[in-house]
Amino acid sequence: TAIQLEPLIAETLKRFEVMHAEFEFIANTEAIRDVMLLMNPLHVEQMLMIILDNAVKYASLTKRIVIEGIRLKNEVQISVQDHGIGIPEADLPFVFDRFYRVDKARNREIAGTGLGLAIAKQLVLNYQGSLAISSVEGEGTRVQLTFPLHQIVDA
Ligand code: ATP
Repeated sequence: TAIQLEPLIAETLKRFEVMHAEFEFIANTEAIRDVMLLMNPLHVEQMLMIILDNAVKYASLTKRIVIEGIRLKNEVQISVQDHGIGIPEADLPFVFDRFYRVDKARNREIAGTGLGLAIAKQLVLNYQGSLAISSVEGEGTRVQLTFPLHQIVDA
């Protein structure tokens, strides 16, 4: 069955807003208002939760997280931008690997197994989508989900 993406994102964000009141969550998702995807809503939620959970966990002083939805001709893109501690360039290629965590000393106080992004990637690949990450250490991280248009049915 086809699911509507935007309300699902809004619901997930609402839960994070309640749990993390010190953060400001901004949703720019008007552009994907009519996008429907042939996906299990639980899978979409899980992907978003993994990415948002990281954005919260690896935050810095600027506690603002922006989620944006873009619709292109052949795909839909959902990105989560944080202004957290960022990821060193040398670690970036490995963050999707199972059990990989950046700098154990840095992460000592932050709970995690290093599985989140590996799971998210597998979920995304199951839907012929892709998961990309870009980051500048000390400035922030952007995680982008892309799903092909053939998964999309217009509302
Ligand atoms: P968990 O399995 O509980 O999610 P985790 O957060 O360590 O544990 P991943 O989500 O796979 O595991 O992330 C891998 C590593 O990538 C993290 O340990 C962290 O160092 C880095 N990372 C991921 N997302 C971010 C982010 N938004 N900002 C900074 N570092 C990040």
